[in-house]
Parts: sequence; C-alpha cells; structure tokens
Amino acid sequence: MSEAIERGGDTWEYAPAPESTAIVRLQDRYGLFVNGEFVEPKSGKWFTTINPATEEPLAEVAEAGPEDVGLAVDSARDAYEQRWRALPGSERAKYLYRIARQLQERAREFAVLESMNGGKPIKESRDVDLPLAAAHFFYYAGWADKLEYAFPGRAPSPIGVAGQIIPWNFPMLMAAWKLAPALATGNTAVLKPAETTPLTALLLAQVIQEAELPPGVVNIVTGAGETGAALVESSVDKVAFTGSTEVGKIIRRTIAGSGKRLTLELGGKAANIVFEDAALDQAIEGVVNGIFFNQGHVCCAGSRLLVQEPVFDVLMDKLKERLQTLRVGDPLDKNTDVGAINSRAQLQKIEELVASGVQEGAEMYQAECVLPERGFWFRPTLFTGVSQSHRIAREEIFGPVLSILTFRTPEEAVEKANNSPYGLSAGVWTEKGSRILWMAERLRAGVVWANTFNRFDPASPFGGYKESGFGREGGLQGLEPYLRLDGGAP
Ligand code: NAP
Ligand code: MG
Repeated sequence: MSEAIERGGDTWEYAPAPESTAIVRLQDRYGLFVNGEFVEPKSGKWFTTINPATEEPLAEVAEAGPEDVGLAVDSARDAYEQRWRALPGSERAKYLYRIARQLQERAREFAVLESMNGGKPIKESRDVDLPLAAAHFFYYAGWADKLEYAFPGRAPSPIGVAGQIIPWNFPMLMAAWKLAPALATGNTAVLKPAETTPLTALLLAQVIQEAELPPGVVNIVTGAGETGAALVESSVDKVAFTGSTEVGKIIRRTIAGSGKRLTLELGGKAANIVFEDAALDQAIEGVVNGIFFNQGHVCCAGSRLLVQEPVFDVLMDKLKERLQTLRVGDPLDKNTDVGAINSRAQLQKIEELVASGVQEGAEMYQAECVLPERGFWFRPTLFTGVSQSHRIAREEIFGPVLSILTFRTPEEAVEKANNSPYGLSAGVWTEKGSRILWMAERLRAGVVWANTFNRFDPASPFGGYKESGFGREGGLQGLEPYLRLDGGAP
C-alpha cells in the first residue's frame, strides 16, 4: 500500500516495498516437537493458524492435550536425568552457540515468518526480534560454564524440567528469553507458544534438531490456553509464564503449595514522562516508539503519556503531526511502521476499551490512514482529557492507543506514574541528569528508561513490580530463577 506524505507542499508517494515470502517454506501441517521428533498429537486435534493481515490460513498445527503434554514432560525429564544435567557447562554452551548462529544465518526466514504469522512490521521482526533472540542465546551460552563465578560459593545446580508459556506479541524473542537461560543452567524445557503465533517456535524446533541438541532437552507443545493449563498442572519443577495478569493469577493459584518454582512476567501500563526541559523532537520519537512499536502489543509499552503542562500544547501539535506520517498496513512492506493487530479477539478488546474512553469523556484523535479491507487493523490513536479514573488510564489496552495526562511538578509526575496496579517500565524525558536519578529512585517500575524507550539488551534484567509479576529475565539475574543456590538437593 502506498501512502502520501506531505513535506513543505510536496507530496511523495511511497512505492510498495514488499519483502518476498519465497524464503519461507510452509508445511501443510506441523506436529508436536517431542523427544527431538515431530509427532502427531494423541489428542487427534489440529487447529488452523492464520495471517492476521490477510486472514488467510497458513498451516494446520497440532493441539496438544493433557496426554501429549505429559509425554513432552516425560521426555524432558528423561533428557534431564540421563544427559543434560550432568553435561559440563562448556558442552551445553556449544549447543546454545550453534542455535544462536543458526538463528543469525536464517534470520531473514524467521523474520518473514514472524511477520506473516503475527502481523508485526518486517522492519521490526528483522531489526529487533531476530537479532535480540540470537543475542539472548549467545549471551546465555557465555554463562553456561561460568555459573560458579556468577554465584561464587553458592553451589549452583539446575532445578529440573521447566514448563514455559509465552505470548503472541514477541513469539521468537520470548522463546529465546525462556529457553536460553533454562538450557544454559542445565534444565530441560517444555515450551508452549501462543495459539495465534506457533510457527516460528516450530521453525526453531527444526533449528534445534539441526543443532543436534540431545532429544528431549527442548520440547514444544502447541495449543491454546488449555494446553498451557495442562503444562502448569503437569509434573514440571518450574513454571515460567509471560502473558496477562489474569492468567498469571490463575497459574499462581493453581501451583500454590505444589513446591513448583514460578516466575511471572505480566502486563503493564507504563508512564512515559516528558518534562518541559526535554528535547521535544527526540521525546516525540520516543513517545511514538513507546506506544506504536509492534502495534502497542508490548507489555512495557509507554501507554500513559504524562506531559508537563507548559509544553503540553506544543507537544500535542508535534505528536498529532507525527501520527499522520505513520505508515499503517502490509506487515511485509519494508516501509510499514504499524502492522496488523494480532487477532480478531485482540482487536475486539482494543475496540471495547477505546469505546469506553470515548464514553467516559476523553477526547480521541486518530491517524487518518486508509486501512486494508481484510485482516485486523486499528488506527494509531491518541486520547487527551484523560483522568486517572478512566479505564483507558488504568487497564492495559495492548494496542496502538495512547492515553495522555498532564502534570505540574516532579512529585505529581511520580504520584501519577505510580498510581497503577502495574509496575513494569517507565520512561523519563529531561535534560537534567539529576532529575533522571531522582525520578528513577521513586518510580515503582522494573525498568526506567531515560531519554529513550523500549531498549533491550540480553545483559540487562527485565521484570515487574506489583501486578506486573516477579522474577527477572535477562542478565545475571535471569539465571537465578533456573538455579538452586546453596547446594539444595537437585
Ligand atoms: P494470555 O491468555 O495470558 O496468554 C499468554 C499465554 O498463556 C498464551 O500462550 C496462552 O495460550 C496461555 N494461556 C492462556 N490461558 C492459560 C491458562 N489458564 N493456563 C496456562 N496458560 C494459559 O494472554 P492473551 O489472551 O493472549 O492476551 C490477553 C491480554 O493479556 C492482552 O490483551 C494483554 O493485555 C495481555 N498480554 C500481556 C502480555 C505480556 O507480555 N505481558 C502478552 C500477551 C498478552 P493462548 O495463546 O492459547 O491464549
Ligand atoms: Mg488467551
């Protein structure tokens, strides 16, 4: 889809720049990945996975029932007992490096498939998701033989079998966040990708086969929420979950008292705070990236913009102008900024919350872009006149919708930012270094970005406060949830 941009009276048309899908070889059907092989599900059930930008079916995928999940967990248990736990860290690292190199080599294939199955713009899957996923494997490969140095004198040992449940917003990246630290520390895994985005995890299973990882060290069971629930209830030793706070609470209740370890990475409603002394053009880019990156399907999205009153008018003018330049459409077009909403269900959720914003009296402003006829789409949207009590200020929308509030003093900014059940991330825009530190001390959020937003590095820990969950992924801290320390019984 081509779109016009107006600059100083001239109008430039963007020619379509579609990425070819020829590099992706889709199978008609994908079985479950258990004990190193693709197998038919004992459940006998399959489901269709689609392209959310076109609603066209891509493939049939197996739906794992409780019996299938049980077999996957048994296979992970055998691999743990027989081989993996006793393998020297340097040997485990070899496999992780192999997987990382394969991800780099096949990055384009993975990126195209990620965009086809999930709807995210190719420039994001190509430049962010895949490089970061490979970087996580490289990073944790480096720790595999250095755990004694990471936790000196604390006799680190693995936990056992990890059940890992991931969402649809960053399918490959979340798979890497889960698998890389688990494997590096000597655990084996059963991974459950999200129902709407199973395909890159299944391609990863092929890479894992080619890397000759011992069978059963990684198992991948596709399916919907029931498959995830079966995994939580199985005999795994640890559950690692990323997804909604609602499901996180269910999981916590389910495993209470079972002795299973748990980490939860849940939702967010991050405040992105712009002070009057900020470099405003730079801040605008950070605000846009904070909420429109990946269609706003980001747990740490800067979905509440807090603007200091003196710059509110000028910032709004700039933001509205920038909104009209966002190119919304074909995820596979290299010029696309905002792709498809991941599913019809998510689109309905966004529509429902946006309607509540209008109904509760906030003022809506939307990009005027033309949307494709088929597929799931939502216009980049701003809300002003938002008050703290509005649903759009409190609930996670998980879409390209920004709620804008104002503040006068730093104290008021802190109070408003922390007035949320969530606490995953925050952003601060100011030219004063001392103010950045003052704010970072007071913001109850796992990550505070200063004069940037949505920045990730495998060496940097990520995780929440309050209803955003507990446990950290990334960095040295990301090893801990997969280890017994102080020589506990393995
Ligand atoms: P979700 O249901 O929490 O999905 C996360 C993962 O958990 C998926 O693999 C899901 O399978 C699985 N699951 C669902 N019910 C389960 C259960 N009872 N036991 C174990 N696993 C279960 O999230 P969603 O329905 O996709 O999205 C709902 C909302 O959650 C979004 O609108 C957004 O606000 C939030 N969200 C947050 C994140 C994040 O990164 N923090 C990610 C995604 C969504 P299915 O795919 O089959 O549902
Ligand atoms: Mg769900």
